[in-house]
Amino acid sequence: MQVKEIGEFGLIDRIARLLPFSSPSVVVGIGDDVAVLKTSGPEYLLATCDIQAEGIHFIRDAITPRQLGRKAVAINVSDVAAMGGNPSWILVSLAISESTDVAFIEDLYRGMSEQAALAGACIVGGNLSRLGSGLVIDITLLGQISPEHLVLRSGAQAGDSIFVTGYPGESRAGLELILRSDIEIGESFRKRVLERHLTPQPRLREGRILARSGLVHAMIDVSDGVLADLAHICEASGKGAYIPAASIPVSEAAAEVCRAAGHDVLDWVLRGGEDYELLFTADSGAATEVKNLLAETGLPCHRIGYITDRAGVIQVGEGNGIFGGSGKRGWDHFGGDKG
Ligand SMILES: [Mg+2]
Repeated sequence: MQVKEIGEFGLIDRIARLLPFSSPSVVVGIGDDVAVLKTSGPEYLLATCDIQAEGIHFIRDAITPRQLGRKAVAINVSDVAAMGGNPSWILVSLAISESTDVAFIEDLYRGMSEQAALAGACIVGGNLSRLGSGLVIDITLLGQISPEHLVLRSGAQAGDSIFVTGYPGESRAGLELILRSDIEIGESFRKRVLERHLTPQPRLREGRILARSGLVHAMIDVSDGVLADLAHICEASGKGAYIPAASIPVSEAAAEVCRAAGHDVLDWVLRGGEDYELLFTADSGAATEVKNLLAETGLPCHRIGYITDRAGVIQVGEGNGIFGGSGKRGWDHFGGDKG
């Protein structure tokens, strides 16, 4: 059996079965955005890592080294944001070919350092290795959180409202502009979607505000796509979800690129991925309070649907497009785009 036959999430399931953790110090192991660990101090330690590999996660000519450095750190910070935590320390493993320009590496580190500073974290070490060709950046991020503020994927309750920050789909629109040079689009829209794809800003402040409010039951960051990440919440919580098509937020910029590219914009919004927005659930009566909380950050937040008791069933629209089971709704790193 090959990895592509079971996909990323099938592989994670098999690995998790090989690693039954039994230490009482592990609060959350495999299966959330980050691992949550008890220490001798009052705070939990958060630990996560994420790879950016040339040709898979980025095209070298389409992103500057500084942007790449920022993004590599931002996607890790986003995972800590999804727990409501505070990033603290970063380790960087870099695999590079001998012919790599030194100035490229320096700019990469400038970008990583800038994004780390924005998150209140610092780079404290790492590792360099030779690679035949290409570039692989693997970042480990450690953070902290007070136990009472921790928000997991597994807390969604039937009847909860589902919210998403910002405008998912814009990053996918930015990727389309990178992949295709024939798309004509207004400059401000072009700039916006490229920015969302190349230099996503993790919703760290928003994650902390939401976690500390006590209103949020479950939270995840949107890396694989709204539907795929909602499925992670539903699976961890043993629930399902319903999303009326009319409540899906569509940005003008993403809609414009979509029109020009001849795609269905809802497909990009729901399955595009790499949005690094927050997707979370809260008591249905708390919608106004949730929106008021986030209003001070200036980041829009939309209620897109609600959690149901139908475990594993995510329904979009008016009875059309019923998605069940797992791993068929967004980006899977080995199975590719599950159309
Ligand atoms: Mg995540």
